[in-house]
Amino acid sequence: MTSTVSLKRSINEFKRPLIIAGPCSAESREQVLSTAQELKGIEGVQIFRAGLWKPRTRPETFEGVGEKGLAWLKEVKSETGLKVGTEVANSQHVELCLKSGIDVLWIGARTTTNPFAVQEIADSLKGVDIPVLIKNPINADISLWIGAIERMNKAGLNNLMAIHRGFSSSLDSKYRNRPLWKIPIELKHHYPELPIICDPSHICGQRSTIEDVCQKAMDIHMDGLMIETHIRPDKALSDAKQQLTPGQLFSLLQRLSYKNESSYDVNFERTLEILRDKIDIIDLDIIEALAQRMEVVEEIAKIKHEKNVSAFQQKRMDEILKQRVEKGVQFGLMKDYIQELFNLVHAESVKKQTDFFKTKKER
Ligand code: PEP
Ligand code: MN
Repeated sequence: MTSTVSLKRSINEFKRPLIIAGPCSAESREQVLSTAQELKGIEGVQIFRAGLWKPRTRPETFEGVGEKGLAWLKEVKSETGLKVGTEVANSQHVELCLKSGIDVLWIGARTTTNPFAVQEIADSLKGVDIPVLIKNPINADISLWIGAIERMNKAGLNNLMAIHRGFSSSLDSKYRNRPLWKIPIELKHHYPELPIICDPSHICGQRSTIEDVCQKAMDIHMDGLMIETHIRPDKALSDAKQQLTPGQLFSLLQRLSYKNESSYDVNFERTLEILRDKIDIIDLDIIEALAQRMEVVEEIAKIKHEKNVSAFQQKRMDEILKQRVEKGVQFGLMKDYIQELFNLVHAESVKKQTDFFKTKKER
């Protein structure tokens, strides 16, 4: 996949890391303004967020205050000097936000999954220079995320950022939405110029794990954090369990350790270079070992073909995974990592065998 977007680094307008904070939903003028007043003094907080139109999974839950909240956001802007942002899901939302001088728009995870909606928003933003933040789609599909970014960019918007808010899963997990860090990392690789902000609130779904996720995001040099913050979290009308008070946000931000992407220290650079050379050599060894493994797989394919034995045997697969995971854990490697790696290695070897059977049949 090649990148087709042209971007100006909108993060440059903001101080890094960019902290976006504010309630999941605007509920009342008092709640919005008092939350914003407390956030105003917190270092790093540059954008106040509040959802006005809430995409809720079930009807008859709080669906946001809608248009009337725009006036509250305008007040936040004039009283605190913070920039203000909200979620837009259709062209009518866009039009109302632009009329009210909203500074930043974001596209929610449910909207990113829908190319019709994304296109409608992109069309209504043609010719407008406004930062647009694009949340990942709820399902773990990087192409949908890239597609939404491309649609915005084709409409002439180049002040874009991505928001990583995790991916829904039917698997049991300690997260509300699993972070699957390799997806935002792949996005970064695809668009090195695109700032990526992490939204730990929707990843975690509860307060106690938010700090760890924030730290991880800073450790991989994400450009900022969007953290839901409410003056009275327990009383919030949406996402009550995951919102922090402004005071909790302040101490969390103080505790985080912020990393630089590089250092001007010559000794550090030299040591890093030596260690990276070591990694390069190890990676070459891994590739050589994989190629040798594949040669053995070819031998296996030949004898299986002669004896008309299938390419895949569940028992063997279970055995490989069990033993490799045990070995990996003995060496201090994570179980999931080894499991994923050997699932991939084994799948490729089954494919090699079925490809071999096919060539024999075609002859
Ligand atoms: C939100 O930010 O409040 C929201 C609805 O998020 P998401 O689209 O990530 O679910
Ligand atoms: Mn929310």
